[in-house]
Amino acid sequence: VASEKIDFHSLVQDSLESFWYLENRSQINIHVNITDTLAFYSDKKRISIILNNLISNAIKYHNVAGSNPIININITTTKDQGIIAIKDNGLGIPQEHLKSIFKMFYRVSSKIMGTGIGLFVVKEIVEKIDGKITVESEENKGTTFTVILPNQMK
Ligand code: ATP
Ligand code: MG
Repeated sequence: VASEKIDFHSLVQDSLESFWYLENRSQINIHVNITDTLAFYSDKKRISIILNNLISNAIKYHNVAGSNPIININITTTKDQGIIAIKDNGLGIPQEHLKSIFKMFYRVSSKIMGTGIGLFVVKEIVEKIDGKITVESEENKGTTFTVILPNQMK
């Protein structure tokens, strides 16, 4: 795997710009908070796939009936690791589905278009670069995905 300096600001920006076409995208308030005072090294291509999938999910599965859709993208870097947290106040994932969402082709509902591959790929990639991914979710409240990646800085 590659080890290059990661510019989270531009990766997040690229990701957000690439989802302009998603339905209701413009009605969602997206807050980006990046604290990258320490340089972070990892595999840029893989990080962008992780961000794209988690951000597109947060947009896709927002609560259309809810009044104020918000997505918080929080990224912090330290000497040892990078922490990426993508939090939404969308549909949430029912408890009984939570343990299965990283399986290939697994989807909670077919009402919204998708293939069920995104999170499977994300988990594979996160593990490939020695990271960890966790999810916390509550139905009708929202979901937070947290990815912790080692800083490959030598
Ligand atoms: P794609 O392969 O296009 O990403 P997908 O979005 O259906 O399709 P995953 O990204 O793997 O597939 O997500 C799996 C399932 O987990 C989704 O179908 C959805 O039900 C649920 N899910 C994922 N992220 C969220 C989220 N932020 N809020 C609510 N449900 C989510
Ligand atoms: Mg997806």
